[in-house]
Amino acid sequence: MASGARVEIDIASKRFSNMAEPVLEGLKLTVEPSTTLALIGPSGAGKSTLLRLIAGIDRDFDGQVMVNGKAAHVAETPGFVFQDPRLLPWLTAEDNIRAVRADITRDAAVELLHEVGLKGFESALPHQLSGGMQRRVALARALALSPRVLLLDEPFVSLDRKLARELHKVFLKVIKSYRPTVILVSHDIEDVAQLADRIVLLSGQPAQVKSELVVPGKAGDRDVAAIAGISDALSDAEETVD
Ligand code: ADP
Repeated sequence: MASGARVEIDIASKRFSNMAEPVLEGLKLTVEPSTTLALIGPSGAGKSTLLRLIAGIDRDFDGQVMVNGKAAHVAETPGFVFQDPRLLPWLTAEDNIRAVRADITRDAAVELLHEVGLKGFESALPHQLSGGMQRRVALARALALSPRVLLLDEPFVSLDRKLARELHKVFLKVIKSYRPTVILVSHDIEDVAQLADRIVLLSGQPAQVKSELVVPGKAGDRDVAAIAGISDALSDAEETVD
């Protein structure tokens, strides 16, 4: 699989028509290939909006988002995992994967499910799977596109800590083998301290980059003390924003 794309974000302004003020303004970020950037910030800051601009789903803004030198809306389709898994309820786990990519073989779809730890659940319908398992299917489905960019919007939200940590392991494993560029939105400081290479705090109205942290050590290998140190630094940064 090809490795990750460089993502260059230069948003002069993004405003929704019903709002007087832009949501995002003067936002510049470059995400290096095959690194994981975490976006944190208060609810409503514009993190999900930014993911949609990066995905090329929303083109209504001033500025540009380039993915490996191409405007986002004409670049390769990214993998996108939303907060809620958005599986098609009438299709099995395997068929949910095949639904996003008609040319994928059965064997390849099954292999993806195995990679995310769902051996034996290929024929299960979404309602027969736990919330954490449904998210794994959603992650496998995003990987089916062989994405150079993987966008994750609160993929661990409302999971208990044990499940979230299990999903971290799955995430780290697939990142290691697929090497996409990852942009992860999360409000959970422990998640980002464990998984990201770089953390960006977005805040303000309009939102701008308020703080940035290059995370020491390797994602997945940080011990409790390192996580605590990163968490403290992020909490301090969050407290100083509006
Ligand atoms: P976050 O992900 O940081 O919680 P969002 O990107 O979801 O923030 O939202 C940022 C702001 O933009 C919020 O005030 C939200 O109400 C507004 N917003 C998001 N999507 C739309 C939309 N489609 N139309 C109008 N306003 C929107």
